[in-house]
Amino acid sequence: SAPIVIVGAGLAGLRTAEELRRAGYEGGVLLVGDEARPPYDRPPLSKQFVRGETDDTTLRPPEFFTEKNIELRLGTAVARVDTAARTLTLADGDTIAYDQLVIATGLRPRRLPGVEEVTGVHVLRAHDDAESLRADLAAAQRALIVGAGFIGCELAASFRAAGKDVTLVEPQPAPLASVLGEQIGGYVARMHRDHGVDLRCGVGVDTLRVDVDGHVRGALLSDGSDIDADLVVIGIGSVPATDWLAGSGIELADPTAGGGVLADELGRTSAEGVWAVGDVAAWRYGDIRKRVEHWTSAGEQAKLVVTALLGGAAPTAARVPYFWSDQYDVKIQALGTPHPADEVTVVSEDGHKFLAYYSRDGILTAVLGAGMTAQVMKLRAKLAAPTPVADLLAATS
Ligand code: FAD
Repeated sequence: SAPIVIVGAGLAGLRTAEELRRAGYEGGVLLVGDEARPPYDRPPLSKQFVRGETDDTTLRPPEFFTEKNIELRLGTAVARVDTAARTLTLADGDTIAYDQLVIATGLRPRRLPGVEEVTGVHVLRAHDDAESLRADLAAAQRALIVGAGFIGCELAASFRAAGKDVTLVEPQPAPLASVLGEQIGGYVARMHRDHGVDLRCGVGVDTLRVDVDGHVRGALLSDGSDIDADLVVIGIGSVPATDWLAGSGIELADPTAGGGVLADELGRTSAEGVWAVGDVAAWRYGDIRKRVEHWTSAGEQAKLVVTALLGGAAPTAARVPYFWSDQYDVKIQALGTPHPADEVTVVSEDGHKFLAYYSRDGILTAVLGAGMTAQVMKLRAKLAAPTPVADLLAATS
């Protein structure tokens, strides 16, 4: 019979395949990916890998796939899906039948129109991106990073560690403001400035300055300033890789709401026998649907999808979302679901380290720490059940 086919051989796809075997599924499992490289880990790309501290980003050794009888078909994109016939058409023309289909195609970096041909301009999502960025970084002295989201901030820290001059440009009032709010964004801003980053908020890039050889030399910013740069990274977010689903009838979220494949709280999509996991999936969480672009979530979703797909009972224990980001010598960590509109109370502060509580209507929504691992982690239980933030503050004061 037809295998379970997972499209997208990234973290979420790999975890789904692993969970199927862990759960005792003995049928065929096929992982199809458009990148030539077997599943690898992305977090190091903006950190240890780009700094040249490691080359190893593999998630599983080759023998793992043989042992677990997980078939890999790499370097081939899936071009189309027919949910009635339960078949996939690959970009090379082949057709494969599936019994169940798991969509795990992740994201594609958003680009700035008209800068593709300019040498020295990069995006960062894939291993190949990171390799070409690392190669260019060695010869560069002045880097311009457009966008102070997680990737922009992490690269700024990595480039400073490599001794490069860094200008970090962000249209929002502060780095990470759209995720963590302006107040915490202010802490992140200070950390970058203290490390010598020329951080400019509230401005964007108007045009790149390019020399006769087609190499980037600088940029004109929206505030009229002109800066020099021999390396540019565009870190302005990503969009779900769903082009191949056009015309399939599988329901997608509105692009203005972040897009992605609509799925329920166990990853079921609108089509029978089709599931979605990882960064590409807009899952239902209570009353809302949202995509979560973090490492830990990919594995948690894979586990839930496999349980549901194999007909098991859904776990009832509350999950507490988690993500981290490494910048300079601090690990920024969040437990729960921080929202930029939440009320923020900074409860402890020491240099670039801090601990903050996020709350909505007086109830704790998230704990965010920088360089505060133990303090963050011990609050997990408080986030698993509704906790008035006032109780926590009373306990810590
Ligand atoms: P991906 O890993 O993107 O995998 C999707 C795969 O599907 C890709 O290989 C893609 O090429 C492939 N694909 C797309 N379309 C097709 C198609 N039509 N046919 C076949 N294959 C296709 N998270 C954290 O929590 N902490 C961090 O510090 C952190 N750092 C990060 C640093 C970087 C540079 C990046 C890029 C991400 C980082 N993340 C971090 C996020 C984390 O890596 C992602 O949440 C995770 O990779 C999501 O996995 P995924 O499988 O959903 O998507």
